[in-house]
Amino acid sequence: MLSPRRAIQDLQEYHPPLAGRKGMRLDFNENTVGCSPRVLQRLTQITAEDLARYPERQPVEALAAQFLGLSAAQVLLTNGVDEAIHLLCEAYLEPGEDVLIVAPTFSMYEIYAAATGAQVLRVQCDADFQFPLGKILGSITPSTRMIAIASPNNPTGTVARREQLLQIANAAPDAALLVDEAYYEFHGESVIQDTGTIDNLFVARTFSKAYGLAGLRIGLLCGPTAQMPGLRRISSPYNVNAVALIALPAALEDKKFVDGYVSQITEGRERLASELRQLDIQYWPSHANFLLVKIGPQHREFVSAMRQRGILVRDRSADPGCDGCVRITVGIRAQTDQLLAVMKEVCAELNLGRSVTA
Ligand code: PMP
Repeated sequence: MLSPRRAIQDLQEYHPPLAGRKGMRLDFNENTVGCSPRVLQRLTQITAEDLARYPERQPVEALAAQFLGLSAAQVLLTNGVDEAIHLLCEAYLEPGEDVLIVAPTFSMYEIYAAATGAQVLRVQCDADFQFPLGKILGSITPSTRMIAIASPNNPTGTVARREQLLQIANAAPDAALLVDEAYYEFHGESVIQDTGTIDNLFVARTFSKAYGLAGLRIGLLCGPTAQMPGLRRISSPYNVNAVALIALPAALEDKKFVDGYVSQITEGRERLASELRQLDIQYWPSHANFLLVKIGPQHREFVSAMRQRGILVRDRSADPGCDGCVRITVGIRAQTDQLLAVMKEVCAELNLGRSVTA
């Protein structure tokens, strides 16, 4: 009987809880209001001819490279960061080789890496979800072929500093180091320029978060010029669809939109943190558009009570080291007003923290 490869038989399906998402979307770290109006405007001009043709990625790739200050040879547009991770795993991993990831982190590194038959080693974060530099350096061996680090990390919001990342790249010259900067816009620090000089460093970015285009599936992978031809060879020539390619130039042009959104989110992040301090509920300072919050044993009740009041948040208590934790995406000002009011009510109802009924 036909069966998939052994490595695939052992994989767990990743099932994001997308069903029935009615209410304020503070559960998937998306842009909570939608993309730039300029993108929508451009999309209204799409013609049948645009859709009839196979999409041409290169001109938009060149534009994205220019936007980033990199050469076009260094940039590959991808079907979201998800595809960037998949391509790196396919390009560099042999069965039995080692991949290092941080725990907790984004699920897709483990899935795509394990699917190749590589062995995934999880390195637990240090106390308070700090980046475990020493443990990562100590885990590098001659079989380490890939190291995937999200900075800011999901679901913790913590970051790895540039010096730490460069130290890792240097300590593992035979490994592809992927720095996933999906939440870059909310943090502002990057190692993208270092991909031009460091032979094994790759950086992924997405338009799913700050830019509000998660539904279009577009992201990019930057890396050393010498490594990019191998990745291009295995990517589909049509990996990014025509609609996404049409939207991207308009999205890149509207810097004001992204800057305005990011400034509301960073302000909201501080307001949410301050409210949690007042309630005496633990959270971890975040550099992304979400906060990880320790709700404790009533995490399920919390998520469900928030949902009943129209706010979707994500239970992350099953993630390693995240017992009782819920992740809350930060929205714009008016959404934060509503979030804080509802959260206070729910905390009072469940007797969480130092909640006092008004
Ligand atoms: N990387 C990280 C760290 C993420 O949190 C996410 C989305 N949750 C992604 C990548 C996926 O990005 P994309 O939509 O571009 O595939």
